Amino acid sequence: MLTCESIGEALSGYLDDELTQQESQRVELHLRECEKCRSLLNQMQTLQQAVGKTPAMSLDQQHWDRVHQDPIATATETAGWVLLAVCLLPPLIVGSVMFLADTGVSVLAKLIAIGSVSGLALLFYTVLRQRMLVSITDKYRKVKI
Ligand SMILES: [Zn+2]
Repeated sequence: MLTCESIGEALSGYLDDELTQQESQRVELHLRECEKCRSLLNQMQTLQQAVGKTPAMSLDQQHWDRVHQDPIATATETAGWVLLAVCLLPPLIVGSVMFLADTGVSVLAKLIAIGSVSGLALLFYTVLRQRMLVSITDKYRKVKI
């Protein structure tokens, strides 16, 4: 038979459904007879529900937002995109024109190249558009950390 003193730890286990069937029955037996421990269990349930109402993701989301909005990360990311575009686009355009003007390259190879570059450009545009939409609609954008 459990006593009020010995039930303490078992109650939280009972609440979290971590007890064996036999242990649960012993706790239930005691709860049936003891108003004090029923009241304690009620309080623990209320507390657990209150804690449970806090979305588990909120802390992770806040952390992610903080990392995402880090001014240094944002600045280096922008600089990275600009550098990539400035250094990569001119040679890509010149190379593409030379490649397409080359009569020694088959039409099929040219079509494959055009398709690949178009696919990459579409992916690039999609990522860029999503990033712009996020930065426009981000509700934490102006929050200073
Ligand atoms: Zn009791």
